[in-house]
Amino acid sequence: MKLALVGIGKIAVDQHVPAITASLDWELAATVSRKGHVEGVESFAAIEAMLAARPEVEVVSLALPPVPRFAYAWAALQAGKHVMLEKPPGATLAEVHALQALAEERGLTLYATWHSRMAHAVAPAKAWLQSKTVTRAHITWREDVRKWHPGQDWVFEPGGMGVFDPGSNALSILTKILPTPVHLTAADLDFPSNRQTPIAARLTFSGNVTADFDWRQEGHQTWDIEVETNEGQLALRMGGNVLEIDGNTVAGTSSIMGEYPALYARMAELVRLGESDVDLSPMVHVSDAMTLGRRASVDPFSF
Ligand code: NAP
Repeated sequence: MKLALVGIGKIAVDQHVPAITASLDWELAATVSRKGHVEGVESFAAIEAMLAARPEVEVVSLALPPVPRFAYAWAALQAGKHVMLEKPPGATLAEVHALQALAEERGLTLYATWHSRMAHAVAPAKAWLQSKTVTRAHITWREDVRKWHPGQDWVFEPGGMGVFDPGSNALSILTKILPTPVHLTAADLDFPSNRQTPIAARLTFSGNVTADFDWRQEGHQTWDIEVETNEGQLALRMGGNVLEIDGNTVAGTSSIMGEYPALYARMAELVRLGESDVDLSPMVHVSDAMTLGRRASVDPFSF
């Protein structure tokens, strides 16, 4: 299938382009980006120009930040294209609901991707937890924003999500693996005094579940989810790529490179089946944290 990739920035270059070009399902037919391009692929500065010039493109994959993404998704669906959304799927829940309704009305596939759900050890972790009672869970997601989002001021603008940009990856795993859903009950959010979104957050959920997100972590980076149950302990490390049961590594690999190929394989499957896949549960937790969160002002942040 012919695919157009929109937003040729960090994640497009690091993950989308290698996954698309390595797949037998896809042909990268065009790109849309104001500045970026992919060598050997026709590039357009505006999505309307691409849609008009390349009617044979069937699928549009949006690797833009969340705030500008809605207008692009809407235009693509209106033009009869199936659409794949980077995470988090939108700047607000309501705009994703609007996209869902339009896709359904037009009989098109809408896929709200959560790349961390495709990490190697997530499926075995879900299977292990399925028959157990969770007594406690804790997420530690501490990384260096300067390393992973160099110079990306949009993450600190309204709708950029701040530390919930990576935190939503953890929440996408949590919502996938827990046998019983939880809901947020309290949050503490640290806003740099010169920024609009939090740089750190501590969350409390029902069911004795807690989370610690921090974007100021230099040196060693931590992406762990630890779960205690009535029948032993599980830990997902390396962003869901390594599974430990009672302290022993039982599955996974420390590479994250399988996640985007798995997303594109899933998109091909959804288009063939004529289905959509839009799970907003990780974003509901983010939205609830912004609603319930107690805000503190912390040191200003600059890249
Ligand atoms: P990015 O490099 O800052 O942005 C991607 C591209 O989007 C930019 O190169 C830019 O291309 C275009 N863009 C940015 N702002 C725009 C605007 N206001 N209007 C139109 N186009 C705009 O960001 P990224 O790191 O790739 O992240 C993009 C999405 O991928 C985010 O939702 C993020 O959560 C997700 N993601 C990122 C990572 C990561 O490690 N960075 C990992 C997984 C997922 P042009 O200027 O050429 O138009």
